[in-house]
Order: sequence, then structure tokens, then C-alpha cells
Amino acid sequence: KKAGGDRYEFFTNAMQETALLHRRLTNDLRVAVSEGQLRLVFQPIVRLQDGRIAKAEALLRWEHPELGTISPVEFIPLAEESGLIIEIGDWVFREAAMRAKQWSDKFRSNIQISINKSSVQFHSIAYANGWIDYLWEIGLPGECIVIEITESLILNSNPLIAAQLAIYRAAGIQISIDDFGTGYSSLSYLKKFDADFLKIDQSFVRDIENDPSDLALSEAIIVMAHKLGIQVIAEGVETERQSAILLEAGCDYGQGYLFSIPVPAADFEKLLEKQSAASGE
Ligand code: C2E
Ligand code: MG
Ligand code: MG
Ligand code: MG
Repeated sequence: KKAGGDRYEFFTNAMQETALLHRRLTNDLRVAVSEGQLRLVFQPIVRLQDGRIAKAEALLRWEHPELGTISPVEFIPLAEESGLIIEIGDWVFREAAMRAKQWSDKFRSNIQISINKSSVQFHSIAYANGWIDYLWEIGLPGECIVIEITESLILNSNPLIAAQLAIYRAAGIQISIDDFGTGYSSLSYLKKFDADFLKIDQSFVRDIENDPSDLALSEAIIVMAHKLGIQVIAEGVETERQSAILLEAGCDYGQGYLFSIPVPAADFEKLLEKQSAASGE
């Protein structure tokens, strides 16, 4: 009894607090969608050659009524464990597609928006088809949407995943491999898997100015990707020097605080307005 009591106390002090917080957040997340507490921010993806904004990545933010802004690093895992990611991911897709439509119409050229999709969201073919239906409904070409997936998903040989990727491809949606180089990077899957973009993980970019092996790896990734017809986006570009080195290495696009932090939709639209005014359109 006494030992049990001690264990209980230990549990109370640390683990139970974490468990309680997780349970609370998961419960709160259930209402977050319907109460409009989730929002998307957009981070420009810039063409390194001329600095023009070519596209943007949509990233989730949660404005918790009592706890303030919660990072996706905190709540995406809870959403995945609880299955809530299915509904949240649907909302993200619709919101991103709606913005892509709005901006492509306004600026009379296709603005590509990329969204992150976790493996849990590859549970059903109907889910993929639902997204294609929505594109038809709002009249958005599939080419305006990019789905970012991670290496582990591609390595998963589940035929359900391959079938859904084929559905997206057939609708013109493009596929990007996120955080490239951090997983079990088997180069052979790039041959089998027909991706449009590959994103060099920020862990390679961070020290690219000083670490010769980070530079060598980045250069090799870029050469290899290009030979396979894949365009390359560098993540986490924070300095002019990093941007120049990546351009020199032949990298196509950059994304990072150097160009812009992720911003609300209205602010991203202002960036596009500024750009279109500057080019005299
Ligand atoms: P990610 O897809 O790799 O997104 C890039 C992350 O790098 C973002 O973090 C972004 O804010 C951050 N970042 C951008 N530029 C810089 C930079 O110059 N320096 C540094 N240090 N960081 C930079 P964020 O917004 O906190 O998102 C974290 C992760 O959460 C994302 O990583 C993605 O895996 C996940 N996530 C975000 N939104 C969604 C979503 O709608 N669905 C799913 N399934 N996952 C999401
Ligand atoms: Mg991403
Ligand atoms: Mg990434
Ligand atoms: Mg990531």
C-alpha cells in the first residue's frame, strides 16, 4: 500500500501533469476547429535567381483562448494520436486551396500553395477524392497545390498510399519531399518516386557557410535532384551568405527568415501586391 502510494505521488508530480496537459490539449483541440481557433500562416518560397516569391507554404497556428499561441510541433503529434488530424487536415486543405484561388485570380498567375500532410491522413481513398472534388468546386487547377510529405511515407510500401498519390498526381497536384536528408534517405526511392520538389532540411542549411560537409551534401543533393527532374527548395535560409551559396550550388528556391517569417494571409497578399507593383504589372 505504502509503495503504491509513493508510486502514485511520483506519477502525480511529473508524468500525470504531462498526461493531464496532453488530455486537456487534445480535448481543446476538438473544439478549436469549430470555434475558429486554428489559422494558417503563409511563408514565401522565393526563386533564388531573382528573389521573386513563387509560392508559399501554409503552416498551422493555434490561438488557444487561455494558453496563447501553441506551436504545431506541440499539437500536431496530439492531433495525429487522436485522429483529429483528419478533420484538421481537411480544414487546412480547404483554407489553403481557397487562398490559392483568391490570389491566383487577383494576380492573374498561378500562386502555388503547399500544405503538409501527415501519414495518418493517408487512411482512405475517399479522403483524397474529397480534396479533388473540392478543387473542382472552387475551380482551382491542381497545379496550384503542392502536398509536402516526408521520406518515411515514401518508404512505406502500403499500396493505399501509392493509390492516393496517383489520385493527386492525376489531378495535377504536385508532390514535395519535406525535410530531405533527415530520415532514412535511401536514394533509390527517388528513382521510383516521381516527386516535383525536394526540400533540403534546415539542418543542412544552418552551417552551410562553415561546414564543408553540409555544403558538399547540399551540392550533391541538388545535382542528383536535377538529374532526376526534381526542383530543389532550401529550408531555413536565414542569411544572405547562405542564400548566395545555395544559388551558387544551383538551388532553385529558398524559404526562411531571410525572406520572411510565416505571415497571416493578409500580409502575404501585401507581399504579392508589392511584388506585382514593382514589376509594373
Ligand atoms: P516543416 O513543414 O518542415 O515547416 C518548416 C518549419 O520551419 C516551420 O515551422 C517554419 O516556421 C520553420 N522555419 C521557416 N523558416 C525558418 C528559418 O529561417 N529558420 C528556422 N529556424 N525555422 C524556420 P513551424 O511553423 O513551427 O512548423 C513545424 C512543423 O509542424 C512543420 O515543419 C510541419 O512538419 C508541421 N506542420 C505545420 N503545419 C502543419 C499542417 O497543417 N499539417 C501537418 N500535418 N503538419 C504541419
Ligand atoms: Mg513542410
Ligand atoms: Mg521541412
Ligand atoms: Mg518538419
